[in-house]
Order: sequence, then C-alpha cells, then structure tokens
Amino acid sequence: MNQIHVLPSEVSDQIAAGEVVERPASVVKELVENAIDAGATHVVVRIVDGGRELIEVQDNGRGMSSVDAELCVQRHATSKISSIDDLFSVQTFGFRGEALAAISSVSEFELITRSSDVDAGTRVQIDCGKKLETESAAANVGTIFRIRNLFKPTPVRLAHLKNAGTESGYVKKEIEAFALAHPSVGFEFLRDEKNVLQLAPGTFASRTAEILNEKIEQLAEVEHLGQELKITGWVVAPGHCTPSRKHQWLLVNGRRIEDSKLAWAVREAYQQSAGIEKHLHPKFVLSLTLDPLLVDVNVHPRKLEVKFSEPGDVWKSVRDTVIAALHRSLSIGSPVATFSHMPSPTPACSYSRSGGSGGAPSVRATNAAASLFAPKNFAALSSARDGNIEELERPTPTGELRLIGQIAQRYIAAQDESGVWMFDQHALHERQRFEEFWNKRDELVRERQQLLTPHQSNLSEDETARLIEHAETLAAVGFEINVEGAVESVPSIFSSSPIDEVIQQLVDWIDGAQVGEHAVDHFLRKMLEYRSCRGAVMFGDRMEPEEMQRLLDDFGTTQWRNLCPHGRPNHWFIPFDELDAKFHR
Ligand code: ADP
Ligand code: MG
Repeated sequence: MNQIHVLPSEVSDQIAAGEVVERPASVVKELVENAIDAGATHVVVRIVDGGRELIEVQDNGRGMSSVDAELCVQRHATSKISSIDDLFSVQTFGFRGEALAAISSVSEFELITRSSDVDAGTRVQIDCGKKLETESAAANVGTIFRIRNLFKPTPVRLAHLKNAGTESGYVKKEIEAFALAHPSVGFEFLRDEKNVLQLAPGTFASRTAEILNEKIEQLAEVEHLGQELKITGWVVAPGHCTPSRKHQWLLVNGRRIEDSKLAWAVREAYQQSAGIEKHLHPKFVLSLTLDPLLVDVNVHPRKLEVKFSEPGDVWKSVRDTVIAALHRSLSIGSPVATFSHMPSPTPACSYSRSGGSGGAPSVRATNAAASLFAPKNFAALSSARDGNIEELERPTPTGELRLIGQIAQRYIAAQDESGVWMFDQHALHERQRFEEFWNKRDELVRERQQLLTPHQSNLSEDETARLIEHAETLAAVGFEINVEGAVESVPSIFSSSPIDEVIQQLVDWIDGAQVGEHAVDHFLRKMLEYRSCRGAVMFGDRMEPEEMQRLLDDFGTTQWRNLCPHGRPNHWFIPFDELDAKFHR
C-alpha cells in the first residue's frame, strides 16, 4: 500500500540541512564564510543560549540586491560557481550554494542586507522553509543574518546539542580559525551580550599571538616556501608547551582542518629538537597552502578533514620546517645537539638520535616518574634506563656553589671547590618547587577553594563522563565534580591556575592513570608536578644573578636533586680533573 510521493521542498531542504548544519557552530561557520567571501572587513557574531535562541552574524561586506536577497536562500543558489569544473578550483569558501537554504529550513530565519548602490535595504524572513514577507528595511551596507530557534522542526537534532557553554566553545573555535586565516579582518564575538572575543585587524603574527595567548617573542616563525607546498605560521617556544591540545591550529588553503597526523608531525619536531615532556603539547598555528588540485577538501561533509594527494610529503615538510624553526629560534645551529660526554639525558620525555645515520630517533621510555619517590629505587631505575653506572654516582657540591652566570637564558653555570656545574634552570627550579609542595601535600589538598558557580569546561561528552566517573578520587585531592561534570571546588594551590587547562589536565591524568588503589597518589603527584612546572622559571627566561644564586643555595638542601619531577636530569657536573685532562694538564 506504500505510495511513492515526492517530498515537499521544505522537507528535502531539512534533510539536506543535516549535512551542513550540525550545530550552532556550523551555522556560524557558513555565515562567516559568506561574510568573508563578500569582502567584509569586520564581522560580529552574537549568540544567545549557546546559539539555541539566537545566532546573529553581521558583516560590512558588499551586501545583496533585493533580488539576490530573495534568491540566495534557494537551494543551489550561489554566485560562486556556474560549472562543474569550477568545483575543483574554487578559491572561495562556500560553493555548494545550499547553506542558506539549509539553515533557513530549520530555523526562524531573518536576513537584512543592502548593497552600496541602493538606498534601501531588504529584509527577508523565513520560518522553517516557508517564506514570509519580503520588505524593504533601513540598513547599512552589508548583511545581517539572524537565526532564531535553530532546529525548531527537528527536535532530534536539537536534543543532540550540548550545554550552552560547550556549544559556545565550538562557535568560538570557528571564529578563531577564521580570524587566523584572515588577520586583516576584525572579529567580535558576544555570548549572551558578553564580549568573548574582540580582535582588531592585525597581521598574521599579531593575530596568532592573540589566539595562542602568547607574546610574539615566545613564538618561532615557521616558513617553508616550496613550489607545491607553502607552510607559514608559528610554533611556541619549547618552555611554553601546554598540557592541552586546544592550541593547535592547522589551516589548509585558509580552512581549519583537524589532522592528528599533522599535529603529531609538529610534536615530533619538538621531540627531535628541543625536547618536549611526555604530557605536554606544542601550541602552534600552521597555515598550509597548496594547489587546490592536490588536496581534496570535500572528503568530509563539514570539511574538517582533507585528503592530500601526497600525505607523506606534507607530513615530512611540516616536521622538518618546524625543526628548522625551533633551531633558528633557539639558535642551536643545525641538527640535534647532543653532547657525547654528557650523561645521556634520556628518561621518559627526551629523545636522542641513534648514530649519525639520520635514521629514526631512538626512544627510550621508562617509568621514571612513577618511581621517583623511592630513593632506593633511584639506582635501579637509572641503570635500567641506560645501563650507565656512572650516572648513579651523582655528586653533591663540596662547599658553596658560586654562580658563574647564565648561558643562553637556559642554563646556569656555577662552580664549587671540585668542579664546574651546569644546571637546566627550569628543571632545577621545578624540582625545588615540587619538593616544597610535596612536603606539605596533605595540607595542600585539604585547603580548597569553592567556586562561586560550578565551572563547566569545554570538554567532550566522554571527557566529562570520565571526570564524573572519577569524581570520588578527584574529591580526595580537592577537586569536587558535580553530577553534571562541572567543577565546584579546586585545591587552593590551583586557585590562580587557568581552570580550563587544569580540568583538561585532570582528564589527561585520568587517561594515563592506572586508576586503582594508587589513584589518589597518582593524581596528587600529577597535580604537584603540574604546579611545580607552571610557575617555575622557564627554559629561555632571563634570570637575575640573585635569583640564580638562590636556586644554587637551595640546590644543596634539595633532597631529590638529580632529576626534574618529569624525570629529566637537571644538572651536569664536570670535575676539575676531567677538565684538566681535556687540556692535557
Ligand atoms: P554559497 O556560499 O555556497 O554560494 P550560500 O547558501 O552560503 O551558498 O549563499 C548563497 C549566496 O548568497 C552566495 O553565493 C552569495 O552570493 C550570497 N550571500 C550569502 N551571504 C552573503 C553575505 N554575507 N554577503 C553578501 N552575499 C551573501
Ligand atoms: Mg556559503
């Protein structure tokens, strides 16, 4: 008895909408794309209730005539392509000609626009695909879209949206990506009338610094100008890596993509040059430009992924270009500086190149950090690590450690009666802070700070679920998580830390935890490691002589003085007789 019938166009538009419009952020993405394509130099995005109640995008672009304003919401209405060939080389963002049709089919939609050649603007209103009246309206040159009650006719979609904070985080990310790709365009983002982003027109460098929340001096410029592939952008100084992957931006021909392999290429670059601790990730903005024919941006309906025709080449170019950038900025000179006479600094987090063959770096992993608190384990641990007995006999200073000076803003040189000491300034300070915290750990977790309102972080659904699952353990170390996964209190030592970052950390720690009977200890140690690292003097910071002398004085009283809490050595001692021997004395 089934009768074939053709779906009304509103319904087929709503089905098509499923492809394009997944959530408020996808609406914002389409509208901002259009604004930029229309030559806007200033774009303002407003959302209310995470975009459920209102999404508004206002631009000062060229606007539309009243005829175009009516046409643009029809499916396959576009001014950007006219033949199938155009699809393969189109340089503008949108080209399907269906975004506005899709959006207006699943919302209460309003468009006000005016082009510069006419005095009056046009207002078009559509309610879930049904056109209401079109009228003339006062308007500035440019276009405003207002989307109210998104997903009104598709309650299942609506039910899939996350809380307002999370949705608004997605929106922000879209805007930031456009902001990076178009530094000369100003952007504003208001959430519930509160200003979240305000980005004045700038340069790629200034925009990057703003989005990564870093000073320009802490960024190393990446530049590869190959024939087929150009890579430009910025990576952060090694000391400024963070526990979260949120600050990693990849743009391909101006579009944000997510590509874990390319992100890994960047991390690999740090591992092969400056070194990076196991739990940290570089912050970066990399913009790849290549012939549109060599990259298929349409493999994913929302275009977050791309397919390169030569992915391996792109990966290597990214890695090598970032290595070059790090070397330049650290002025280390070319490939991997390892000193053969140095005790090999190779615990959990650093890497060394095997031989001179230029082959793959060798990775020597240990569970160093896990055993750090048992002094008797240190010997066993070190020898297991590199089979190097000498390293076990780490000397203690004889007499007073006297400062010689700072080297390259990274190392502290000192001497005592028996030789010369070199310290990794960050690792040294970190170790001392860690010990200080560790000695009063019980009181540190007992003192907590109640947040004024529970803090909901921009976590994915399953990250939130993991937090909730471990709420009891986390409560024992001072983090109270409510049934919705919002944080209600933090231990006082975290009261001035960036809360979203700390929460992201918690999730990562849960991931890395053998959560069982030692879970509380695990979290405690991770927390204190984090706090001792954040706030310690950075590798790359200039230090005053008094500060350095203070660290040297403390060194003598530091109990676990050999490694930083993550397991890297923090000093290197050269006895005078070894020095003499070098000079045949
Ligand atoms: P597409 O961007 O793929 O062409 P859309 O449905 O997103 O399809 O937009 C349809 C058309 O509406 C565009 O081709 C453009 O001509 C016009 N348009 C959309 N947004 C704007 C805007 N902000 N300013 C000027 N014209 C616009
Ligand atoms: Mg478009």
